[in-house]
Amino acid sequence: MEFNNKESFFKNLQAGQGKPLVIAGPCSAESEEQVMQIAGALAQQNVHLFRAGIWKPRSRPNSFEGIGVQGLEWLQRVQQTFKMPVTTEVANGRHVELALKHGIDVLWIGARTTVNPFAIQEIADALQGVQVPVMVKNPVNPDLALWIGAIERIYNTGITDIAAIHRGFSSYQKSKYRNAPVWQIPIELKARFQALPVIVDPSHIAGNRELIFPVSQKALDLGYDGVMIETHNRPDEAWSDAEQQVTPETLKNITDKLQVRKVTYDDAELVNRAEELRLQIDAADHDIIAALAKRMALVEQIGEYKKQNNVQVLQLERWKEIFSSRAAWAAEAGINPDFVAELYKLIHVESIRQQTQISNE
Ligand code: PEP
Ligand code: MN
Repeated sequence: MEFNNKESFFKNLQAGQGKPLVIAGPCSAESEEQVMQIAGALAQQNVHLFRAGIWKPRSRPNSFEGIGVQGLEWLQRVQQTFKMPVTTEVANGRHVELALKHGIDVLWIGARTTVNPFAIQEIADALQGVQVPVMVKNPVNPDLALWIGAIERIYNTGITDIAAIHRGFSSYQKSKYRNAPVWQIPIELKARFQALPVIVDPSHIAGNRELIFPVSQKALDLGYDGVMIETHNRPDEAWSDAEQQVTPETLKNITDKLQVRKVTYDDAELVNRAEELRLQIDAADHDIIAALAKRMALVEQIGEYKKQNNVQVLQLERWKEIFSSRAAWAAEAGINPDFVAELYKLIHVESIRQQTQISNE
């Protein structure tokens, strides 16, 4: 896929030039008055694109499923009154037709739709021969191929103004996030398609207000092109996603505080210092690999010993002890114990693989 350069996506939104694109607005359009109040407040600040969900994909029936087509008229009023472009979520061909008929400037495809190639293809069919920018959220599950596949189906219609939105991935494990960011997936997407703008949706990643700033800043540090932040005039009373929505005032505090980093060092002295540090990092990595090789040689010896004595490869008590002691050692050394615990999961898998191989020889 050959995307237009990023500036093309941003041009009509009067964004770009090194500044992050800011998309804001409520999770759901609830009433004309609510939409106009929020849009009015956002028009006073640095917001490039107004968002509001009209059709809401909800996990359970009998929740608020969106105000429907009348919301499109409210979005038209936002365009006319505040000269602000608008975006809404489309999940099927009918939504696309209605959104286009009402002149919605940018469409977005939600996480629950990206997972379904039939739904994406139906949307793509409805977009044939139309030029409208489309933003594709990541699928709910951490599957890069599915995300790329959805982008490809939209691209194949002839649309080249496409952006990806990173909104995190659902996970059974409890964590501080509503949807785990799994940063390596969008990083891989960025590496493969360098001209594809990538926007972070910290609201759906965080699921709460406190994490919106740090998640947004981290995304900018990774070279993301924009943020989509759910904003409501009365967040606590919102009909959907109340815990994660912020007021227009808080949004302004967040965007004012966000720092945009330089793409790279622009001074020879800084480059030299970075080179020096990189050489030291290379040396530290050599040490890590040498230590792993030493550990694997010992694992091989113990594997032989277990085999000779006809003892099971997996010794659960020992493994539990390793797992907790290494995390504790990490904490003592001032590094993140969760990271070290994850690392030991990988080391353990490899160690079991090696020993099982020996025991089957
Ligand atoms: C939304 O943006 O309100 C939404 C439903 O998002 P997602 O598809 O990321 O869950
Ligand atoms: Mn939402």
